[in-house]
Amino acid sequence: MEKHPLSLTIRNVSKRYANGVQALHNVSLSIPPGMYGLLGPNGAGKSTLMRTLATLQEPDEGHILLGDIDVVHQKEAVRQTLGYLPQEFGVYPKASAEELLDYFAVLKGITNRALRRATTEALLRQTNLWDKRKQKLGGYSGGMRQRFGVAVALLGNPRLLIVDEPTAGLDPTERVRFLNLLSELGENSIVILSTHIVADVAELCTNMAIINQGQILLESEPLEAVAALRGRIWRRLIDKPSLHALEQEQQVVSAKLLGGRTLVHVYSPERPGNSFEPAEPDLEDVYFSAMAGCFGPAIKQQTEMVGQ
Ligand code: ADP
Repeated sequence: MEKHPLSLTIRNVSKRYANGVQALHNVSLSIPPGMYGLLGPNGAGKSTLMRTLATLQEPDEGHILLGDIDVVHQKEAVRQTLGYLPQEFGVYPKASAEELLDYFAVLKGITNRALRRATTEALLRQTNLWDKRKQKLGGYSGGMRQRFGVAVALLGNPRLLIVDEPTAGLDPTERVRFLNLLSELGENSIVILSTHIVADVAELCTNMAIINQGQILLESEPLEAVAALRGRIWRRLIDKPSLHALEQEQQVVSAKLLGGRTLVHVYSPERPGNSFEPAEPDLEDVYFSAMAGCFGPAIKQQTEMVGQ
């Protein structure tokens, strides 16, 4: 057993697909144990990075180290300690959860029957599916299927668990249940949650990165990134037709409908005018500010200082 905590180090990873799309551009991240959020819009490169970490594809350039395992060159060693819940996965609709989990446990090399029974029971209980274990997977709801996916991914006690866009199709209750399940994991292991939903990261993750167009825009602890924006986010209610003009003058980071009017958040180091009130920033402001390119060198430095 390694004594020091596991960490995942990604250095200068780039990937260009055969069609010319540069999906990852010089990506470097340091991922400690716990829940790590990789946040970005569709097409940002999240799945490409997740599949690369899961040894399903190789980068063109760069290095990835999981503890002392070289992820690109020692795929088998990674797979022994990896759990991966892809964005889409098929289940055999006619099999029950219990049967299919048992089958995957055999594939994972858990050949001892008693151990397999104990393992699958523990996982079905942990994912809250024990009462539904005899039910056919074809009849499972989206949330139940995702939880089953986690049970499969957790077989063999992985120290690296990757979940790619897990909450996308879930209703609010299922989403909360799923996030609660994830939050119970990952003290000793690394759990990477890739998502385009800011709230997923805000609620769960102790560390995060924001990615867009294959590039990392920000790597930070969520609370530090929010703190670094304090005093820089301003709010104002406007009528929708004025939005366009305001966007020409100010760095609008978000515009939301509120009671028939439009609530805008503007990024500005100083108060942009008397009609603006200071707003308490949140992670959504961080996300949209990063996407708008507001996390330039100055504020990045401030983020680092807040973290010291
Ligand atoms: P995300 O998971 O953030 O939505 P992806 O990693 O799936 O992002 O995609 C990043 C970019 O790479 C997108 O422009 C996407 O169209 C492109 N892409 C993804 N997979 C492939 C592939 N197999 N071949 C070509 N282009 C791809």
